[in-house]
Amino acid sequence: MTETNNNIEKVIIIGSGPAGFTAALYAARAELEPLVFTGDQLGGQVAITHEVENYPGFVDGIGGPEMVQIFQQQAERFGARTEFDFVSEVDFSDGPPFTVKTRSGKEYKAWSIIVSTGASPRQLEIPGENDFLGRGVSYCGTCDGAFFKGKDVIVVGGGDSAIEEGIFLTRYASRVRVIHRRAELRAKPILQTRAFNNEKMSFIWNSVVEEIVGDGLVQNVKVRNVETGEIDTLETEGVFIFIGHIPNSWIFKGQLDLDDAGYLITDDHMRTNIAAVFAAGEIQDPVWRQVATCVGQGTMAGMAVTHWIEELEDQIKAHSEAGSTTPVAAGD
Ligand code: NAP
Repeated sequence: MTETNNNIEKVIIIGSGPAGFTAALYAARAELEPLVFTGDQLGGQVAITHEVENYPGFVDGIGGPEMVQIFQQQAERFGARTEFDFVSEVDFSDGPPFTVKTRSGKEYKAWSIIVSTGASPRQLEIPGENDFLGRGVSYCGTCDGAFFKGKDVIVVGGGDSAIEEGIFLTRYASRVRVIHRRAELRAKPILQTRAFNNEKMSFIWNSVVEEIVGDGLVQNVKVRNVETGEIDTLETEGVFIFIGHIPNSWIFKGQLDLDDAGYLITDDHMRTNIAAVFAAGEIQDPVWRQVATCVGQGTMAGMAVTHWIEELEDQIKAHSEAGSTTPVAAGD
């Protein structure tokens, strides 16, 4: 049964990563009392990042979970509220106010929305991948690395995530073999140097994993050399997959404009194609995807939403007093 909240929120923020909590901080400081929905993972991807070394202000780096806590506390200090729920449905067709429904069966209305739902790990989509999820297959070294103490693990991918997480996994694993589909890494030079100098790490180039095999737990992977076509069986107990991300935009399909890869399209004020619906962070940024850039985009969205609400304050007030159900005329 749906539980309807009759209060109309000024701002609902969908997603609690760096972009979401930064937007919340700015909206909260403008006294808009934003309501932040966490989604399944409070803090998003940074919450499962062992250490962030490239966010300015932290000379020695900072742990991802600690960073999330700071972002949340800072936004809440000014009146942001955090709701541990997953937004499963939105209706932008006849608002604002818009309707937001959550997986726990609650329904909310809001004069404006900021979408900061981020992205999720891309899957290899090979046999065995889903069967052995949590039984040797993982998308998060920080979360699962400790289970592989003294074990032999495989990392798939050649970008920053694969190399950074591979290095992290050497804390626990006896050996980390990185399987990459090309003969050159995509990762930043500083990470490459660290990985090449790490005695526990080795590289299998021009190769793709075609199947994950086991019996209850992962036992081996079938690897094909893309140049020779040769197939090898490599014994391993863990397969960590870091081959990029896909934007969490499925609930907005058909309502907000998306690019071909599913990222939300925004303008330079973080506006989507629907007035009063903004977006920030990785959900609208397939290129930069850093905590620092997400924070910047969250700042812009928080400021943009504040201007929007300020411009329409009189109309919103009149609308509320009249108990009207007619949408407010959208601002530009
Ligand atoms: P990414 O940069 O897109 O790299 C994905 C890697 O997976 C690439 O090496 C790619 O190969 C490979 N790949 C993609 N699809 C594959 C498939 N189907 N089979 C096998 N391999 C496949 O993703 P990411 O490493 O997650 O990084 C995402 C963004 O976050 C980047 O902008 C990155 O700079 C950033 N990031 C930054 C840091 C940091 O600054 N410390 C840490 C983590 C992530 P190809 O190289 O052949 O395309």
